[in-house]
Amino acid sequence: MQKLIFGNWKMNLSAADAVTLAQAASKLSIDAGLLRVAVFPSFTALAGVSASLKGSSVALGAQDCFWENTGAFTGEVSPTQLKELNCTHVLVGHSERRQSMNETDEMVNRKLRSALSAGLTPVMCVGETDNDRRSGQWSNVIARQVAKGLADVKVSGNQEIVIAYEPVWAIGSGRACVPENAREAHALVRNAVIELFAPAVAQKNFRIIYGGSVDEKNIASYLALEGIDGALVGGASQRAASFAGLIEAVQK
Ligand code: PEP
Repeated sequence: MQKLIFGNWKMNLSAADAVTLAQAASKLSIDAGLLRVAVFPSFTALAGVSASLKGSSVALGAQDCFWENTGAFTGEVSPTQLKELNCTHVLVGHSERRQSMNETDEMVNRKLRSALSAGLTPVMCVGETDNDRRSGQWSNVIARQVAKGLADVKVSGNQEIVIAYEPVWAIGSGRACVPENAREAHALVRNAVIELFAPAVAQKNFRIIYGGSVDEKNIASYLALEGIDGALVGGASQRAASFAGLIEAVQK
């Protein structure tokens, strides 16, 4: 099955630098049957990156969206506005937003449902903190985030939801999760999805990927494991050479 490699560029690149990186990404040789690559620049860079990716096999995503499509919501960006710029994916509930912007499971759920009805693939991030892991609460935290994030969600046809398991302590820290622990967490996420949807739907419409200090050296160790459908990559996706290295490592 096609593996997913998603690059979260965070708030790190100027619009011009994002376009340069997107141009480099658009030239990568990607076997689209085996791999789906998408990049997630800042809102300010979406239009430029969208133009640079036209005709390439790299897809475009945004780092967040609001749950209404129009209205008096100053500063927010809606799923339909993202679609206008050719976005096909959107992150919701990244831990940096849950922690710094106090996003709750309920907000993440509204964003996910709105993205899905607009025809975008939501990429919902879940994952435990260091404290959750130490206190033995990690599995409860992940199960809660999945259940609340997917509350009242209806999935039909080819609609797709991606869940990114991203332990908070592994993001940007260089402390990548031990692959076997990531596999165990992915199985837990899959079971939490099966609690809510028919097993056939969980299988067909949901993909589960790992994120947290993934780089070109360790990516293969995650993708080799059953149940890990890809990776959400921050730092290593933000430089042309390491992004190319990641793609190469996966296609080897
Ligand atoms: C992320 O931003 O979602 C992420 C996983 O970052 P990093 O790869 O830098 O840990």
